[in-house]
Amino acid sequence: MTDCLFCRIVRGEIPARKVYEDDLVVAFHDIQPAAPVHILLIPKLHIASMADLELSHEGLMGHLMVLASRIAREQGCTDGFRTIVNTGRVGLQEVYHLHVHIVGGPQPLPPML
Ligand code: C5P
Repeated sequence: MTDCLFCRIVRGEIPARKVYEDDLVVAFHDIQPAAPVHILLIPKLHIASMADLELSHEGLMGHLMVLASRIAREQGCTDGFRTIVNTGRVGLQEVYHLHVHIVGGPQPLPPML
């Protein structure tokens, strides 16, 4: 058991507007959306960040990326979207439970780099 914020969302201890859930992952609306569509997709397994990935996570991460595409489409991002994974201090990660931001919507998104 961990008191990680996103682990608590996985366990249903903190409310979240879920859009998808299966045995391995949960997707929910970001509480501070940066675009008309802003979903966070997380593994149920606590992995602190991308920097902590191991070869044993390959299948899980493949599942996550395939679902990111499906969820984006279901949320109406039919003309493209961004997937962002912030990693560590320099990567501006705030919540240390690996998550993929799925960002999109009807308006063009500003360039990031
Ligand atoms: O990638 P990073 O760690 O910076 O982003 C964390 C994200 O988690 C933020 O976009 C924040 O709005 C979101 N969040 C959330 N629900 C919470 C706490 C944070 O959607 N209860």
